[in-house]
Amino acid sequence: MHTATFKSRAIVHSLNNYDEVTILHERDCNDVVAEYKGVRYTAIFNGFVCSYYVDDLYGELPDQHKCPRCGGDIL
Ligand SMILES: [Zn+2]
Repeated sequence: MHTATFKSRAIVHSLNNYDEVTILHERDCNDVVAEYKGVRYTAIFNGFVCSYYVDDLYGELPDQHKCPRCGGDIL
């Protein structure tokens, strides 16, 4: 599990294109939280295209400090 945050290019759902996001939490490919324009969203890592995919349309975290998939705290 990553503990350091880092910036990455990611496909952003609303854009259907790439933009820079910050990866805050990653336990596995399907358990990723990314921040985009100051809001935290669920994300995945798609190994086929080697890119993160951020769901800013439907994936906003109900609690911005807790991962909805694993319940882990996000500072
Ligand atoms: Zn998680």
